[in-house]
Amino acid sequence: MKIPNIKTPLPGPKAKAIVERDEKFTAPAYGRVYPLVVKEGRGCVIEDVDGNLFLDFMAGIAVANTGHAHPRVVKAIEEQARKFLHICGSDFYYEPMVELAEKLARLAPGKGGKKVFFTNSGTETVEAAFKLARYHTKRQHVIAFYGAFHGRSMGALSLTASRASHRAHFGPLIPGVHHVPYGFCHRCPYQLQYGSCAIECVNVLEKIVFRYDVQPEEVAAIFVEPVQGEGGYIVPPPEYLPMLQELCRKHGILFVADEIQSGFGRTGKMFACEHWGIEPDILCTAKGIASGMPLGAMIARDEISTWKDGTHGSTYGGNPVACAAALATIELLEEGLVANSAKVGAVLKDQLTQLQPRHSAIGDVRGLGLMIGVDFERSDGTHAPDGKLRDRVMQRCFEKGLLLLGCGESTLRFCPPLIVTEEEVATAVAIFDAAISELN
Ligand code: PLP
Repeated sequence: MKIPNIKTPLPGPKAKAIVERDEKFTAPAYGRVYPLVVKEGRGCVIEDVDGNLFLDFMAGIAVANTGHAHPRVVKAIEEQARKFLHICGSDFYYEPMVELAEKLARLAPGKGGKKVFFTNSGTETVEAAFKLARYHTKRQHVIAFYGAFHGRSMGALSLTASRASHRAHFGPLIPGVHHVPYGFCHRCPYQLQYGSCAIECVNVLEKIVFRYDVQPEEVAAIFVEPVQGEGGYIVPPPEYLPMLQELCRKHGILFVADEIQSGFGRTGKMFACEHWGIEPDILCTAKGIASGMPLGAMIARDEISTWKDGTHGSTYGGNPVACAAALATIELLEEGLVANSAKVGAVLKDQLTQLQPRHSAIGDVRGLGLMIGVDFERSDGTHAPDGKLRDRVMQRCFEKGLLLLGCGESTLRFCPPLIVTEEEVATAVAIFDAAISELN
C-alpha cells in the first residue's frame, strides 16, 4: 500500500461538505489548522473521508503515542466497556483506577510515595496542581514562563503565556502569577551566549523577581514544562532544570513539572524530567497517557498530598474505560515504545539536521526522542523567525499527505506516534524536504 496516497484535491468533496456543516454549528473559537476530515486511523496512517491516506507525524497533538487504534488498547477499552462505563471514582472504587494509580506512582520520577489525582484533560491536571500547591503551602504566588502552555481554564490560562490571543479579553485572570522568559538559547531572551551566560534565565529569579516583585517565601510553586511544547519544542540548556529545582528546594517552593506533552515516552524516556535527574514535587500528565481516551493524572509526592477528603474531585476523572486504555498504553510503552522513541527519534533528528545546509530557512533543529522541532527563519541574514514560511510548508506537506503541526512563533513539530518506523521517517523527511524546496 502506498503511504501517503492523495487521490483528490484537498479538501475532497466529502471533506468539504463536512467542513461546511461544521462551520454552521461549531464554535468559531476553534483554531482549525487544515481541512483534514478523518474517517479512520491505523498506526501512523490516517484515512480521510475521501479515501486519501496521510502519514501522521502529529499524532493528534502528541497524544496517539501507541498509534491510532492500537489493537491492544482497543481490546482493553472494549473489555472494560462491556463491564461498566462509569461509577465516579471520586466517590466510589474500582480496580482499574487503583491499578493505574499504583503504576503511575511507581513510574513517576523521584523516590518515596506518591498520590495520584485523576482528571479528564491536561488543563484539569494543571488546575488541580495549582490548587494543591496553594492548599499545601498556604502561599498564593506562582511562577510560570513565557511561551508556556498549561491549558485554557481560568487557572491554567493564568499560567499559560504562549500567545497573547489566548488570554485576550478573558481577564482579569487569577492574581499572583508571575511570568519570566524560558531558557531558550537559540533566541536567548537576554541576548547572551550559552557558555558565558551563567544561565541568566534562572538567575533572573533571584536577581530580579524575588527582589522587586515577590518574596520567595510567598511563592507556592514554579510551573515548568521540561521541554516547552506549544512554545516551540524548546529544550532548555542542561543546567536549567537542575538549577530551577535547586532554587525551589532553597526556598520551599514546589517544583511542578508539566509533562502533559513531554510525558509517556515522547522524549525517549518515560518522562522528560529523567533526562536531567529531576524529581518534581508534582508531575502533571495527560495526552499520551491513554492513547487518546480523555484522561489526565496529577502525581504528587506523599508529603505534599495533604488535602483532606472532599477538597477536590471530579465526576469523570479516572473514568474506568480511560484507565483501562492507560494501563494497556503503559504496558506497550514499557515493552518497547519508549525505546523506539529514543532510537527512531535520533534518526529523525539526524535526517532533519542534514537538511539544514541545503535550506537556509531552517534555523534550528532541536528536540529529544520523538519531540522534534524545526525552526524557520528568514534567509535575509536577520535570522528573524519566519512563521509565514512555516505555515506554508505545513500546508504544502498536508497537500502531499504528511500531517505536521506548528508550534511557537516559527516552528514545525514532528511528534509522530511512538510506533513510527525508520522507513516512515525517511518518507516524511523526503516530503518535508520537497515541500521546502518547492516553496523557497
Ligand atoms: N500543558 C501542556 C504542556 C500542553 O501541551 C497542553 C496541551 O497542549 C496542556 C497543558 C493542556 O492540555 P489539554 O488540552 O488536554 O487541556
